[in-house]
Amino acid sequence: MKNVPDYFGSLVFDDRVMKANLSAEVYQSLRKTIDEGAKLDLSVANAVAGAMKDWAVANGATHYTHWFQPLTGITAEKHDSFISPSPDGGVIMEFSGKELIKGEPDASSFPSGGLRATFEARGYTAWDPTSYAFMKGKTLCIPTAFCSYGGEALDKKTPLLRSMQALNKQALRILRLFGNEDVKCVRTSVGPEQEYFLITKEMYEQRRDIRFTGRTLFGAKPPKGQEMDDHYFGVIKPRVAAFMEELNEELWKLGILAKTEHNEVAPAQHELAPIYSTTNIATDHNQIMMEIMQKVAAKHGLVCLLHEKPFAGVNGSGKHNNWSISTDTGVNLLSPGETPYENAQFLLFLCAVIKAVDDYQDLLRISVATAGNDHRLGANEAPPAVVSMFLGDELNAVLEAIENDTPYAGTEKIQMKLGVNVLPKFNRDTTDRNRTSPFAFTGNKFEFRMLGSSNSIACANIMLNSAVAESLKIYADRLEKAEDFETALHEMIRKTIKDHKKIIFNGNGYDDAWIKEATEERGLLNYRTTADCLPHLLDEKNVDMLTSHKVFTEAELKSRYEITLENYCKTVIIEANTMVDMAKTEIAPAIEAYAAELAKTAATKRSIDSAISCGYEIGLVKKLSALTEQIAMKADELDAALVSLHSIDDIGEEANVIRDIILPKMGELRLPCDEAETLTSKKYWPFPTYGDLLFGVR
Ligand code: ADP
Ligand code: MG
Repeated sequence: MKNVPDYFGSLVFDDRVMKANLSAEVYQSLRKTIDEGAKLDLSVANAVAGAMKDWAVANGATHYTHWFQPLTGITAEKHDSFISPSPDGGVIMEFSGKELIKGEPDASSFPSGGLRATFEARGYTAWDPTSYAFMKGKTLCIPTAFCSYGGEALDKKTPLLRSMQALNKQALRILRLFGNEDVKCVRTSVGPEQEYFLITKEMYEQRRDIRFTGRTLFGAKPPKGQEMDDHYFGVIKPRVAAFMEELNEELWKLGILAKTEHNEVAPAQHELAPIYSTTNIATDHNQIMMEIMQKVAAKHGLVCLLHEKPFAGVNGSGKHNNWSISTDTGVNLLSPGETPYENAQFLLFLCAVIKAVDDYQDLLRISVATAGNDHRLGANEAPPAVVSMFLGDELNAVLEAIENDTPYAGTEKIQMKLGVNVLPKFNRDTTDRNRTSPFAFTGNKFEFRMLGSSNSIACANIMLNSAVAESLKIYADRLEKAEDFETALHEMIRKTIKDHKKIIFNGNGYDDAWIKEATEERGLLNYRTTADCLPHLLDEKNVDMLTSHKVFTEAELKSRYEITLENYCKTVIIEANTMVDMAKTEIAPAIEAYAAELAKTAATKRSIDSAISCGYEIGLVKKLSALTEQIAMKADELDAALVSLHSIDDIGEEANVIRDIILPKMGELRLPCDEAETLTSKKYWPFPTYGDLLFGVR
């Protein structure tokens, strides 16, 4: 294999390729679009399309696709070949600027939550020139946004780009107030840390629950789980190391900055983190990364599980969204500066985030809501469903000093006055220790830790960007009118700290006492499930904020509410059906077969000597029979509950029934099955156990 720098980005139509293959004029014009969002000329698009096609064909491409992220959460692509007939009966390879800018996949089968009337099934995709095109096999993939003909967003990228624009606009107003004239653009950056499990392909094939739903629906606790903590940062097994090596190579070829990899807490669990990049690019890269993980795993006889909770009683998988705001001049606005003035600016941006997280706790919770993630949040392995912020002792002391006008008791005793004092540099080591907070300040960025491993990071960042844009707008509105800027600034920061300090919590987020304090004393929200939180997407304050920044229209929000709840319901229904099926056709028959063998053994023994008691066999047969009866009864009950869902029309009501009836009944069916597993001969058990799955990759 060549050196990494030689092949890094070799499958990407990146800046280097553009520079080498476009005329200086076209290149400049395209850069202006990428860097400043300038409008793109058709002649420029034509030239870019030509160069892109030539480069792709030289790399073996026959097809191109507008690659997009519909609301299903995964990515979609429709391939068109470059061929175009020539008069002599042959073909030439062609690609125009028009085809680059706009594509028209039939949108009728993508979820739209009632946005698209059936007669208007078409949607179109629009090129996102800020995210580079790349090669996948023989196809050139062009990152795009996906909209209906009415212009409504049918994807996750469109609102993400809009939220980035909203934040850019408001942040620039603030920077101008601080006399900053040279910044042209403010962007958010994200580094998502991705967790996943690896199991063997053979075992995966034998488990219908994992195949159909991505997680185990049955499984008794294995004799060994994660209690020894011997997996975290442990030596990586050769087979996993080979997988990681190939994964890195594939990602590097795609220009993805895969950086850190290690074993996670649970056996068979691992993590991969890239170096951070601009949010929309990080989002595209995270989607590609999840796809490549699964492909490379398959080549190694493995299956990569991205589900949030593949195994009960073992840590699930999340995604840490490391987020910061920076300028095109390279200044991180969440990093304390060198001068008092820069620090006042830092404190203002910090306060904007504090206010945003408190005012829009519900939107942040909603942004990570899926059936899978509900199993994780609050299960003592991931942050609770209550949103709070961790700032660390040092920063907390600074804020307290400002709020109370008291001396800051840091390294030196200083009276905090904005515009006068220099803040201490916040040391990563002192800020990063808390691992239980949903939203932690880590020195120069925030780490939002509630995301599920299979979530697109788009949703969380849309809400985060929009909420912070709203705080900044309120600040800018006030400061632009202020007679004395410094006094107004100081007062505003103080007021934010006073009004919003209830969201700041530096203690242990896994502690039950915290949930009590958070909800009862501080009045923070605790939406345990997707069904609980989703309706609040349509609360007036949320609709007002998101529409006023033009991130969503009201119709788009309604459609997202419906699609997310529909997805929640469908996910659980598929799980419940799979359980009924496995219980009836695999588990109960296996127990019965084993019981029959025990009975036969007892009969045989007695035919030898009628005085043999056969207490072991008879006792076990009785226990197993009682369990199969339980299983049959619980499976029928769950089945009946599933049938009763058919009569519910309203999606909100259906989600409530799923939460209150279906999920508990699934738990009831699982219990006797898991108990039977511990009593049934391994020879008879129809699929691999937790122990097999978790310790199977060697
Ligand atoms: P950990 O959280 O495991 O201690 P790090 O803090 O080193 O690991 O990095 C976690 C992720 O945060 C990485 O993807 C890294 O690139 C990203 N990151 C670092 N600085 C920033 C920043 N300013 N903005 C956004 N992400 C960042
Ligand atoms: Mg981290």
